[in-house]
Amino acid sequence: MTLITNHMPTAELQALDAAHHMHPFTNGDELNAKGARVITRAKGVTLTDSDGNEILDAMAGLWCVNLGYGRDELAEAAARQMKELPYYNTFFQTTHVPVIALSERLAQLAPGDLNHVFYAGSGSEANDTNIRLVRTYWAQKGKPDKNIIISRKNAYHGSSVGSASLGGMQGMHAQGGLPIPDIHHINQPNWWAEGGDMTPEEFGLARAQELEEAILELGEDRVAAFIGEPVQGAGGVIVPPETYWPEIQRICDKYGILLIADEVICGFGRTGQWFGSQTYGIRPHIMTIAKGLSSGYAPIGGSIVCDEVAEVMNACEFAHGYTYSGHPVACAVALENLRILEEEGIVDRAGSETAPYLKQKWEGLVDHPLVGEAKIAGLMGSIALTPDKATRAQFAADAGTAGLICREECFANNLVMRHVGDRMVISPPLVITKPEIDTLIDRATTALDAAHARLQDEGLMKAAS
Ligand SMILES: *Cc1c(COP(=O)(O)O)cnc(C)c1O
Repeated sequence: MTLITNHMPTAELQALDAAHHMHPFTNGDELNAKGARVITRAKGVTLTDSDGNEILDAMAGLWCVNLGYGRDELAEAAARQMKELPYYNTFFQTTHVPVIALSERLAQLAPGDLNHVFYAGSGSEANDTNIRLVRTYWAQKGKPDKNIIISRKNAYHGSSVGSASLGGMQGMHAQGGLPIPDIHHINQPNWWAEGGDMTPEEFGLARAQELEEAILELGEDRVAAFIGEPVQGAGGVIVPPETYWPEIQRICDKYGILLIADEVICGFGRTGQWFGSQTYGIRPHIMTIAKGLSSGYAPIGGSIVCDEVAEVMNACEFAHGYTYSGHPVACAVALENLRILEEEGIVDRAGSETAPYLKQKWEGLVDHPLVGEAKIAGLMGSIALTPDKATRAQFAADAGTAGLICREECFANNLVMRHVGDRMVISPPLVITKPEIDTLIDRATTALDAAHARLQDEGLMKAAS
């Protein structure tokens, strides 16, 4: 057996990775031809790779390391719990202290009467729970036909069969026979790309009103729920116009359909308050949580459910659950994460100090010749790359060509910024400091300059006709 350690040469690690590891959302041949970057350790907002590069992680891993890397308290909480009770299930009339404590904590943190938690191992699993939960809820209320869930194009709700069906990613639907029946997708509130001649406010209203049109078309007695991310994350950090969520809320109220806020990214401080629903004035019946719940230190997700929905569900046996629902180690880690986020005032500071500072710098990027719009909500931001700002043009080249070039230039400048098509997105750890934000913006600017030069050299600064 080979002992594989951090001290192996990068090329050997890459060769072993290529031989045996299949990466998510990756063309394996392309990656294996060049070799994956090997990340070996991290502290605060900084990653170190196997060649010793120090990289500013402006994505907090995959939108999840809200607390930043290297907090020993979480490792210790995990170790303590593993020694005391590494595992026990909650299926058969048993419970345990970490799951009790975390549930009570979440009920306190969550707005309104969202007081009950059903656990999962991830955001995808939690959204699968939500599909079955809302349908079962209506069946319990004598309306088994009320089972259509309305979602949005370009939404991301996970990668399992159910959650990817809820999501509105065409590329995902094209593989494996998705979506499952009775999921309906309306258009997204992406003004930059789709707003045409409307003002953002008009456009936000129009896109929200598509929900009402869909309800009327499908039949009020068929629609169970609407699901949306307060701010679409993986879709490219699409910050909705201000008019959007109030109108969605009005429509959900009017027709009495359940509102699910997918808070997997927006939750736990990302938008500057504990939950995106608070930032956008949404009153959901169910919130999906994962990612920042444990700052990514342990896999855990869940659905926080309001009193009325819990009351209906508790009156039946919901034949659903995961071996790792309420896993004690993951719960202990999440609890410690929440304690630190709260006691150190990290969420409050992110909202009141860090977010305004980042906003001012980030929005300044709109002056760059390659950038059409710069949007930000708390500590999640995006910029749209464009060959022509005035007309909000897309590139003539395939979508994502310019974005990929820009991302490569970011990596070359020791900055992790992701691209979604030709939008660049950031979602740094909430603990990022003002000097680190300055570094982020400097590196992003250098990368944008380099990407712009490359696009010009390669004749790619051409608008699609
Ligand atoms: C990441 C994500 C999910 C899926 O979570 P996993 O833990 O990857 O399964 C669901 N919803 C949103 C909004 C996400 O960003």
